[in-house]
Amino acid sequence: MDDAAHQALKKYFGYDEFRRGQDQIITRLLDGEDTVGIMPTGGGKSLCYQIPALLFSGVTLVVSPLISLMKDQVDALGNAGIQATFINSSLSFNEGKERLAAAARGKYKLVYIAPERLEVPDFVQALGRMQVSLVAIDEAHCISQWGHDFRPSYRSIPAMITRFSQKPVVVALTATATPNVTADICQLLGIAQNHVIATGFARDNLNFQVIRGQSADVFLFDYLKKNQDQPGIVYAATRKEVDRLSARLAEKGLAVGRYHAGLSEQERAMSQERFLYDDLTVLVATNAFGMGINKSNVRFVIHYNMPRNIEAYYQEAGRAGRDGDKSDCILLFSPQDIRLQKFFIDQSEMDDALKHAEYHKLEQMIGYCHTESCLQGYILRYFGDKDPDNCGHCGNCLDTRERSDVTIEAQKVLSCVKRLRERYGKMMVAKVLAGASDQKVKTFQLNRLSTYGIMQEQTQKQISEFIEFLTAEQYLVQQGGAYPVLALSERSLSVLKGEAKVYKKGSVRAERLAVDDA
Ligand code: ADP
Repeated sequence: MDDAAHQALKKYFGYDEFRRGQDQIITRLLDGEDTVGIMPTGGGKSLCYQIPALLFSGVTLVVSPLISLMKDQVDALGNAGIQATFINSSLSFNEGKERLAAAARGKYKLVYIAPERLEVPDFVQALGRMQVSLVAIDEAHCISQWGHDFRPSYRSIPAMITRFSQKPVVVALTATATPNVTADICQLLGIAQNHVIATGFARDNLNFQVIRGQSADVFLFDYLKKNQDQPGIVYAATRKEVDRLSARLAEKGLAVGRYHAGLSEQERAMSQERFLYDDLTVLVATNAFGMGINKSNVRFVIHYNMPRNIEAYYQEAGRAGRDGDKSDCILLFSPQDIRLQKFFIDQSEMDDALKHAEYHKLEQMIGYCHTESCLQGYILRYFGDKDPDNCGHCGNCLDTRERSDVTIEAQKVLSCVKRLRERYGKMMVAKVLAGASDQKVKTFQLNRLSTYGIMQEQTQKQISEFIEFLTAEQYLVQQGGAYPVLALSERSLSVLKGEAKVYKKGSVRAERLAVDDA
């Protein structure tokens, strides 16, 4: 590693060592190689471009969607004695122009810009007059429409890069990228796939947990009572739910605020500010809250509803524990959440291919809520890690209930899926197994199948839950968009042949009791 880089780290930031990934990324950039860097939230992505910015002769242009963070970053750099500025919609036209001109004169080492600016031709032309050594793209997953936060203006970045008389080095940074999204980032920015540096996504200080079959309200109130004075975020899926929950919590005497897109800008800014400065302990919010919040001591993130996919979940949950201290990430699952998320996808203006992809992601999110394996491991596998270690401290790793053999029950479900020729969804499979005398069952003569009614001692709801479990554990796969059909997986074949056994913690029946009690 470059000595000058170490010196800059010490001199400007006061740190002795680079973190894992930082040194690799910085070394490559200093060698002039374009790089995609994938690091978890709190991993230290900013330094990956700030250090090279200090060592390169020209300007470093940072594209960031986070207007609120730009000012904080620029102020922090200023305090460290580094000349930096930002240009975004918070400035007047003239102010923006002046800053650009000063940047072209070489006044700043770093210039932060909002991607929307790149859609203004005059602005891009003015950028071309700057001597830019490095272009850093923050939240780079926003460039991919397969990412969970696609920003069309990010698509203007590649054209902007070609504007400069001398090609700048490019670094794209993100904390959330599936293999698909990473490939997309590489392709759109013209960076080779082998120029990706990923440090892994694991966040060892986060304790993941899924709560099912319990009243979400009771759990939440109880948790908040036990963890009074700990700052945390409660995410809910709708504005209405945010209003209801925050009012209930206020009645209980908690210092609680709310945040959603239906509130005035002033009220939102106030909530954010008060939460940031520990004036409010709990913030109840929709997913409108978060991008750009930089509060390091968030001790818990509770999802009152299941979010739409794992990327969104991990990003939101990942706002806990940025300071590295132990923090809880709890998801309260209720089957109604599935309906709500499907409704959101249906109502959206995405084209069919995108909707299809969203449904698939939703299925994987549902899988997270039903798996019995390590929750952190499940997330890491989703992001492409082939064989992650168990974290040892998530709800599932700590679940010491006996595992029981449910091979026979699994065989019943799997053979029913087979008899139905992998042409029906979860609901229909559950109906047939439960022996429901539904009109559709009769019309398709499914009551004549040998697997009709073979699980009639259980309710359809319990069978559905068990099917979710089998899907989460990859004995079944769901195929198709809004109405996916169940199909057998490679893993299921050995179960059907009697070569492999299926185990589940708590029997299928015990889970029924827990659900009925709720
Ligand atoms: P990210 O953008 O990846 O979420 P940040 O760049 O905001 O993370 O960094 C997270 C925190 O880690 C910041 O407080 C930062 O000062 C700190 N940090 C970054 N690099 C180092 C380092 N090498 N040594 C110690 N602390 C670091």
